Amino acid sequence: PRVLGIEGTAWAASAAVYDPGEGVSIETDAYQPESGGIDPSEAAEHMHNAIPKVVGTALDHAAGLSDDDPPIDAVAFSRGPGLGPCLRIVGTAARALAQSLDVPLIGVNHMVAHLEIGRHRSGFDSPVCLNASGANAHVLGFHNGRYQVLGETMDTGAGNAIDKFTRHVGWSHPGGPKVEEAARDGEYTELPYVVKGMDFSFSGIMSAAKQEYDGGTPVEDVCVGLQETIFAMLTEVAERALSLTGSDELVLGGGVGQNERLREMLALMCEQRGAQFYAPEPRFLRDNAGMIAVLGATMYEAGDTIGIDESGIDSDFRPDQVPVTWRDEESV
Ligand code: ATP
Repeated sequence: PRVLGIEGTAWAASAAVYDPGEGVSIETDAYQPESGGIDPSEAAEHMHNAIPKVVGTALDHAAGLSDDDPPIDAVAFSRGPGLGPCLRIVGTAARALAQSLDVPLIGVNHMVAHLEIGRHRSGFDSPVCLNASGANAHVLGFHNGRYQVLGETMDTGAGNAIDKFTRHVGWSHPGGPKVEEAARDGEYTELPYVVKGMDFSFSGIMSAAKQEYDGGTPVEDVCVGLQETIFAMLTEVAERALSLTGSDELVLGGGVGQNERLREMLALMCEQRGAQFYAPEPRFLRDNAGMIAVLGATMYEAGDTIGIDESGIDSDFRPDQVPVTWRDEESV
């Protein structure tokens, strides 16, 4: 099927078309805060202005692929998790479009989409997924027909911790790429390493990093400490998840996954235990509608569509709430 996907959980107003022959084309309009971090009402205003434009471009693209009328078979949208004011705009746009084109509507869990795009692109069968984004950090594995959260952050997301530090030192949002750049010229600074069982905590690292900086430690050195500590924690839990599930495949998801050092650490860990590692290209790691369109097509084929009346958004939509209708394996 040819599916239009719409994403708008936080900063990315994005629409994409998945066509089995042509692949995925993505149109994204990013919200860039003038100062500070993401402001939910500004982000929603951005969605309001940008979603019609990116959807229009994606639909034109779909119309160029075939003479079918309508040019798409279904509309998929991210129902959550994310910022409520943003999700509501995306949900309204998706419902209106599905109704006006008279095609089915598909409600996608944003986190499951991060995992599934890795599975789709890698061709892996049943990977564990490490999802490291701004608002989230968790490890997912397939068990008993669901994507279970095997481990997750007990406080802030991995990217948000980094962004809060960079805000403190006066760098503009998003901070991740700036930390990666600065860390190239730094020396390691020790910061608190907090993994409890399968869960991690980043808030202590964030405060300690601010204190180091305020105490005169060069910012480059704090950046090395942030990367090494946060990424080692993520790598440890990902490794334990592979070990517990018996899976020998790891995929990466989320905007923090664009970081070369994180990818290097995960690749090394996988190599050492004889597992395969796949990191999708950056356009599929950061928030994007491509992953929504691709999972939308898979769900469409499984008959997993929803009525307008049951298509409400859910800002706390957890991956394990999603019945995985498109896979039939029993477990990892
Ligand atoms: P989600 O809704 O999936 O939680 P999100 O809205 O937080 O997603 P993403 O695009 O997945 O958005 O991730 C954005 C985060 O990625 C930001 O915190 C940003 O600082 C971080 N990031 C981007 N590039 C890098 C990088 N090179 N190194 C580290 N972090 C990065």
